[in-house]
Amino acid sequence: MRAMVLSAPKTALQQMQMPDPKPAHGEILVRVEACAVCRTDLHVIDGELPHPKLPLIPGHEIVGRVAGLGPSASRFAIGDRVGIPWLGRTCGVCEFCKAGMENLCENPLFTGYTRDGGYAEVTVADEQFCVPIPASYSDLEAAPLLCAGLIGYRSLVKAGDARRVGFYGFGAAAHLVAQVAVYQGRDVYAFTRRGDKEGQEFARSLGARWSGHSAELPPVLLDAAIIFAPVGDLVPYALRAVRKGGIVVCGGIHMSDIPSFPYELLWGERQICSVANLTRKDAADFMAIAPKVPVRAHFESFPLTEANEALHRLRTGQLRGAAVLVP
Ligand SMILES: [Zn+2]
Ligand SMILES: [Zn+2]
Repeated sequence: MRAMVLSAPKTALQQMQMPDPKPAHGEILVRVEACAVCRTDLHVIDGELPHPKLPLIPGHEIVGRVAGLGPSASRFAIGDRVGIPWLGRTCGVCEFCKAGMENLCENPLFTGYTRDGGYAEVTVADEQFCVPIPASYSDLEAAPLLCAGLIGYRSLVKAGDARRVGFYGFGAAAHLVAQVAVYQGRDVYAFTRRGDKEGQEFARSLGARWSGHSAELPPVLLDAAIIFAPVGDLVPYALRAVRKGGIVVCGGIHMSDIPSFPYELLWGERQICSVANLTRKDAADFMAIAPKVPVRAHFESFPLTEANEALHRLRTGQLRGAAVLVP
C-alpha cells in the first residue's frame, strides 16, 4: 500500500510504498476511502505533541470499508463502512476508564499519533473504537465529522445550556459545531483572524448572528466561549467576552502559552476548562444528532499524495472548512 509517512518531527511527509498492515486480535483491516486533515496532525508533525510513534502514518478522521478481520473480530462484516477516530484504544482498567472518563485513560492509543492512522490506502483499527457512519453522508462528507465534529461537539456539551455561544477560530470544528448550536436554538457569535472577511461571511452563512475578529467585543456578553484556535492569547479575550458565571472552553489539544491577565477577567465565577480527546459516547451522541441538523461539512479534497499541500493550506488559514485526503 501507499502511505504518507512522518519519519521525524518538523519534516515533510514522504510518500512510501509499504506492506499492508495485518489486523491483530480484535482489529479490523480497513481500506481507506477518505481521511480528513486535523490541526492536531500539524501539532504532531511540528513536534508540539511529545513522543509520537515514529515512523508514523498520521490521520485520525478516517472513513473506510472493512476489508479483513483479525482473530475474534466480530462487530463488523467485510464491506461495512466504518469511521476511525482519534481515540484508538483505552486500557479499560484505570480509574478514569472505570469512571466513564475513558477520554482521560492512563494508557490510551491515539490514531495517527501513537498508532498509525489514515494517510494511507489501508489501515487497521480496534473494532470496539470504530464508529458507524450515518447512511446520509458520503465518505468525504463524513471524514471531517470524526474529529472536528466529535471533539467539537464535546466542547459544545462542556458549554452546558449556554444560549449565546462564541467560537474563537472558525475552521473545521467550529463550522460543524455552529450548525449543531443553531439547531439547538443557541445564538452563535464567530471570531476569526483580523481581516478575515471571507471567514466572517462564511460564519454568518451558517447562521452566526454576529462575526468579527478575535480582539473585538461581541454586541452582547456571551454565556460561553469555545476556543478552537491554538492561540493562548485568545483566552483573556474570550474571558472578557463572557458574562459573570460564564465559561471559556479550550477545545484544542495544544495551545501556545496563555499570557497573564488581570484577575478581574476571571472574577465573577467565570471558568476556564479544557477538552481532552473523546469518549465512544461522544461519538455515538454526535452521530445521532448530526443527520437531524443536518450537519454539512464544507471541505476541499486533495489526493493522498498531496497531503503536504493540504497541511500547508491548513497552517496558513487558506481552507474554508476541512481538507480531506482521498487515496
Ligand atoms: Zn484507561
Ligand atoms: Zn483531530
